Amino acid sequence: MTERVEQYTDTFRQIRRQRLMQICIATSIGLIISLLVARGVTLYIFCAALSCLFIALVFAFKDRLHLSAYIMLGSLATMLFSLALTGAGMFDLAILGYPGLLIFAATLGGVGVFFTVLSFVIIQCALLTWLTLEGVINPNIPTLTWAHLVFSTVIITITGFSVYILVRDIKKLMVSLQKENAKVQKSQREVQHLAHHDALTGLPNRFYAENLFHNELNNMRSKQQKLALMFIDLDNFKPVNDALGHAAGDELLQRLTHRVASMLPPGHHLTRFGGDEFIVLAPFDGDRHQCDELAQAIIKQCASIFEILHTQVVVSASIGIACAPDDGNDFRQLCRKADIAMYEAKQDGRNTFHYYDKSLDQTNDDKFRLLQRLRPALNNKEFEIYYQPMMSLRNSKVTTIEALLRWPQADGSMISPDRFIPLAESSGLINELGNWVIEQACVFCAQLRSQGMPDLRVAINLSVVQFKSGHLQETVEKALNDAGLPPNALELELTESLLIDNTLLIRQQLERLSQLGITIAIDDFGTGYSNLGYLRDFKASKLKIDRSFISSLCESKDQESLVKAIINMAASLGLKTIAEGIEDQATLDKLMALQCDEGQGFLWATPLPAEELAGWLS
Ligand code: C2E
Ligand code: MG
Ligand code: MG
Repeated sequence: MTERVEQYTDTFRQIRRQRLMQICIATSIGLIISLLVARGVTLYIFCAALSCLFIALVFAFKDRLHLSAYIMLGSLATMLFSLALTGAGMFDLAILGYPGLLIFAATLGGVGVFFTVLSFVIIQCALLTWLTLEGVINPNIPTLTWAHLVFSTVIITITGFSVYILVRDIKKLMVSLQKENAKVQKSQREVQHLAHHDALTGLPNRFYAENLFHNELNNMRSKQQKLALMFIDLDNFKPVNDALGHAAGDELLQRLTHRVASMLPPGHHLTRFGGDEFIVLAPFDGDRHQCDELAQAIIKQCASIFEILHTQVVVSASIGIACAPDDGNDFRQLCRKADIAMYEAKQDGRNTFHYYDKSLDQTNDDKFRLLQRLRPALNNKEFEIYYQPMMSLRNSKVTTIEALLRWPQADGSMISPDRFIPLAESSGLINELGNWVIEQACVFCAQLRSQGMPDLRVAINLSVVQFKSGHLQETVEKALNDAGLPPNALELELTESLLIDNTLLIRQQLERLSQLGITIAIDDFGTGYSNLGYLRDFKASKLKIDRSFISSLCESKDQESLVKAIINMAASLGLKTIAEGIEDQATLDKLMALQCDEGQGFLWATPLPAEELAGWLS
């Protein structure tokens, strides 16, 4: 900015210098022409003025503008006064030069110079009048000659010339000011755009989204419509970033933005909330069907394959929807509600959408309260481990016992692990809790082995969070050592969602654990990715077919063919199968016919406290 100002001051000074020299030269030419027709004392006055103008020119050349301007203006004023004094006084032609002199002063000097010259001119006129009236001088009115025409032409031309360049300068100045103004306005607009838009995708950012929301809200009211706020969160975006790098992540976001933006109907807005979160503002006429269709279309766009850095990338989107005015008219509140609904969509297995409703708030409050109680419960050793046996379907013997966490309450009720495990995961408490389960379960299994069940094994459920620290292997090895349990007596159960977060860190840890001789089993198989190709990568050697397939096995032929296909495919990959949730003999018979290896379920036993299980076993 200061650089700009300095640059302008410099240019302005250059122009002043140029004008000063131009006026000096023009006046000198005028004087030289006048010299040709001048007579007597006038001749000397012109010569003196010419010399002064020459000196002024030299100073202007040396860039001493102030001094030069004073010399020029002073000498011209003195010349005009002397001409009038020796000529016709107030009636002399020289008086014509005064307006020109004032124009020079205004062009070349500041306010100070102008008023000095103006006062000087008025004083000179007053002096001339007074001297004449007092009879000190005797103005001689000359008879008109051609010389007068030359003098007046010179004076008028020089005055006209300087008025012309003055006006031209002003015009130029106006034009450059207009240009400058346009530039400032343009950069102001750019700054505003930057403040309102996201640099990566060019979409309106969350701050601007609020403005758009209010505009749409006003439109909506006048058209008797409703406005859906769709909160989109990408599933599995992080693994893409981790595996292919941030540049690939950025490209994915840009390509996805392009896809979604180009499919939105007019009047809809796509904005970026931050990270892999987007918001769509969608006006609709009150029929939720329209929103359903739009949400499904967005999900479909997000889920189709992206080719990034020569790699085929698949992500999906979970969408939460809140509607104005039904869920309120406050932007932030609606964002919060849509976010809660989005979380539900994630819980529903991702790649889907969910509407906000009031009960979700209640659920959220409950979760918050439960979360507050988790840490003290862990400190007070309120948790217990129950065990459920797994049976071989060939010889009906117990092969393994699965450790399942329980949180008994003071009133005798039990909080289900399905409720508190996700909270323990989100708060990071699962590490401590999980380690405790590993230690206790190893000790219990070693104890049972020493009491006459030498081949008994124990299965422990693991959460993905437990892999994040990178110390899982040490924890497991220490627990095995402390309990005196061989690694082949331990089975670790992982859910498929863990495999989706397919990071190198998890693969390496599983590789090392399986090298120790520990069995890796895939829990709840069939509910998630169901990608058999993955299983070998993760050193899995056992599949636990999810309860949902087993419970309706006898009722549906489709289900039966599905389970059959899973068992056959697993067998061809050299994996063992176990069916969870066997509750009746018919189901067991069917599974035996399908050559399933193992089974678990209420048919044999529910999960039992340690002592009860020990009794059951014996
Ligand atoms: P999971 O590992 O799939 O555990 C099997 C669940 O099925 C258990 O529920 C068990 O009680 C239930 N179940 C077993 N047989 C039958 C049956 O015949 N019928 C029916 N209806 N249900 C049966 P539970 O104990 O409520 O555990 C739920 C989930 O919580 C577990 O699913 C597991 O994913 C998780 N979980 C439990 N303990 C732990 C733990 O220590 N760490 C981690 N990370 N997760 C755990
Ligand atoms: Mg399990
Ligand atoms: Mg399971």
